[in-house]
Amino acid sequence: MDTTLIRNDFPILHQNVNGKPLVYLDNTATTQKPQVVIDRISDYYETINSNAHRGTHTLGRIATEKLESARTTVQKFINAKEQHEIIFTKGTTEGINLVAQTFAQQFLNEGDSVLISAMEHHANIVPWQQMCKQKKANLLVIPVLETGDLDLSNIDELFSKNVKMLAVTHISNVLGTINPIELLIEKAHAKNIPVLIDAAQSVAHETIDVQKMDCDFLVFSAHKMYAPMGIGVLYGKSEWLNKLPPYQFGGEMISEVRFEESTFNELPYKFETGTPNVDGILAIETAIQYMQKIGLKQIADYEHKLLTYATEKLNEIDDIIFHGTAKNKIAVLSFNLKDVHHSDVGVILDQLGIAVRTGDHCAQPLMRILGISGTVRASFAFYNTKEEIDVFIEGVKTAKKMLQ
Ligand code: PMP
Repeated sequence: MDTTLIRNDFPILHQNVNGKPLVYLDNTATTQKPQVVIDRISDYYETINSNAHRGTHTLGRIATEKLESARTTVQKFINAKEQHEIIFTKGTTEGINLVAQTFAQQFLNEGDSVLISAMEHHANIVPWQQMCKQKKANLLVIPVLETGDLDLSNIDELFSKNVKMLAVTHISNVLGTINPIELLIEKAHAKNIPVLIDAAQSVAHETIDVQKMDCDFLVFSAHKMYAPMGIGVLYGKSEWLNKLPPYQFGGEMISEVRFEESTFNELPYKFETGTPNVDGILAIETAIQYMQKIGLKQIADYEHKLLTYATEKLNEIDDIIFHGTAKNKIAVLSFNLKDVHHSDVGVILDQLGIAVRTGDHCAQPLMRILGISGTVRASFAFYNTKEEIDVFIEGVKTAKKMLQ
């Protein structure tokens, strides 16, 4: 992989922040966009912009064709069986809310349980928690070990508690842990329990094959895979999506409307209410093609090398406390400096042009389990370099000198 060439594709990386060259290590929060993705969006507005699936004029027809062709690209990218199993959403959060609310409405009853894990993002906790409250159901939690791995020692007992849905993250945005989702899916299916996978952190780092995984639902956000914000994907097996009621009501999702009664459209439109984010959808297609050109395997291998290098270097600094040391993890490094507040480290790094995330990373329950209020989190993408990691390590050393 030629990182110099790759970096040239990302205009935002070539700037000074606070007088220093930007070192962007907040890729878990959002990834930067290559020029081809930016161009796809402006090209859409310069040449196509029209509402899709409406009317007969030429530009409208082109917008519709391009949108549906992008749906096929996404379908192939995650190896879904059917094109209509791809639903465009605003992002991971909306995808989870869609499934939680419609599933609960149809299938969750008093005394039932929903099983999640202790390392979930708030987006995969609160929607289920609220539905459980409404339906007088229980929210059960798979515990997490100090290493950042899931504690599966009591998993069979958990599954025996009237579980109606397992909703679990593929990869933790805090710990970087890659969870053994195939095993969990197998165990859930043995009891006829459907599974939703939060793939927000895996879609840009791991090859996703929904048929091989055999998950029932999978959600992700485009902005974490080099495409824009405000657009994402819900994959669902046809048989499940057909069983769920509509999520929102309005244009596009209907078949026939009378004042007394309406009938609803078929998949995927039943879940795509209102004017779609066509430019965002086209940009996802371009981002997928861009990643595929580099190679998902090459990306994963390179990022893993960065992780190994950064972990070794950070380990040489005294008083570093790592959070998340699972063997199977992606390039996310969460840590604290002994007796130092995480946000103070973040402020000093920012002064040096280094962008990391600090805080609870939308995982407050996990923070409570770890007994901390937050971490410093550096997360890498394929456009990051060893030289940037050296700058980051020097930055952490400077922060330590100033703060300890
Ligand atoms: N789940 C995980 C694991 C995440 O990392 C995130 C974003 N940090 C989300 C869900 C929510 O994604 P979005 O805000 O794009 O909906």
